[in-house]
Amino acid sequence: MKYWRKYHPEINVDDPRYHQVSLIYSILLIMLAYFSVIGVLNVTLFDAAHIAVYDFSGFVLIAGIYFYVSRGSNFTVAGWLVTGTLIFVLLAFIHLAEGRNYSLIWVTILPPIAFFLHGPRAGAWVTGIVFAYCGWFFYEQLNRGIPGDLSLGAWLNFIEVATAQLFLFRYYERSRREAYEQLQTTSVTDPLTGLYNRLHLDVNLNTLLSSSRHKGLNLSVLLIDVDHFKKVNDEYGHLMGDRVLCAIATLLKEAVRECDFVGRWGGEEFLVVCPETDSKEAMTLANRIVESIQSQPLVEDIYATVSIGVAEASNNTNLTAEGVLHLADKSLYMAKSRGRNRAISMLSADSFDNALSNI
Ligand code: GH3
Ligand code: MG
Ligand code: MG
Repeated sequence: MKYWRKYHPEINVDDPRYHQVSLIYSILLIMLAYFSVIGVLNVTLFDAAHIAVYDFSGFVLIAGIYFYVSRGSNFTVAGWLVTGTLIFVLLAFIHLAEGRNYSLIWVTILPPIAFFLHGPRAGAWVTGIVFAYCGWFFYEQLNRGIPGDLSLGAWLNFIEVATAQLFLFRYYERSRREAYEQLQTTSVTDPLTGLYNRLHLDVNLNTLLSSSRHKGLNLSVLLIDVDHFKKVNDEYGHLMGDRVLCAIATLLKEAVRECDFVGRWGGEEFLVVCPETDSKEAMTLANRIVESIQSQPLVEDIYATVSIGVAEASNNTNLTAEGVLHLADKSLYMAKSRGRNRAISMLSADSFDNALSNI
């Protein structure tokens, strides 16, 4: 586990900010080490206390940013502070060296960082401006006739490499972002219906349950199972069965509210998670779903019905995600036992046993 997770436990590895925050901390630590070591060397070995003052000021500045980031502050601002400081350090170094000793090479570490932290657009602007400034500075030094490794050929090489870097990193960052977004979508989506997959529902249910508890609100779930679905497959074939599942998925998406999560729980079962909803409201939604599915042909002339088990994780019970799903499953079982094509809500597992003995 990354050591910085202790400051930001909410940023999981599947959070898009994870690697950016990781990079911010790495750069800050590298800069802290760089400034302290070079500062000490400047005082002790090179007898350059005036440069060491600049090193130690850099150290204090970076420590300040580190403190800011570790307090859970705005990561966009933190990213810009890091990039700004980095640019300042690079340009200060190039100026101090007056462009000698290949000091300009240092600006090539800017594009990977700027593009990764700020995206292809802002990254291109930042890199373009700094590269243009360096090109101008290099050219000025050339005109002033500074001896050493500066020559028109070297300047041209610099301009060519800078331009190539700018376009290549822009292209690279664009494709990286697209690939990342695609992967994010695939990893949470059920390939047949396009709804959320079970893994994502599981994660969401846990997160929503703890945030509902925290806010003192109820949460309900609807476990939906297609009735006699095996018959649909047997009669019309598996492919037609698939189309029926897709049609049900579309109806579910239309029926739920925007704040609800609807996904495929597995096979011919679906789950809807309704935050800030008690069992009464959830039953209204469930009955609406039952009605909407039974009342229209789903594919061509194929009709189907569903049974729904509703369960509420009310604010005053300590039901876990597993517990509420278990209760929904019992309610579903009851809906099946009572003839299917209906929704039932069990208030507790005990009421299930009582109800069962009355069937
Ligand atoms: P019940 O009313 O008791 O739920 O009866 P059922 O026939 O729906 O239940 P059962 O569990 O016996 O059968 C479920 C069927 O769903 C069997 C399986 O072939 C089918 N099924 C599961 N996943 C898919 C799928 O992705 N596509 C298709 N076409 N069928 C599927
Ligand atoms: Mg089933
Ligand atoms: Mg079924």
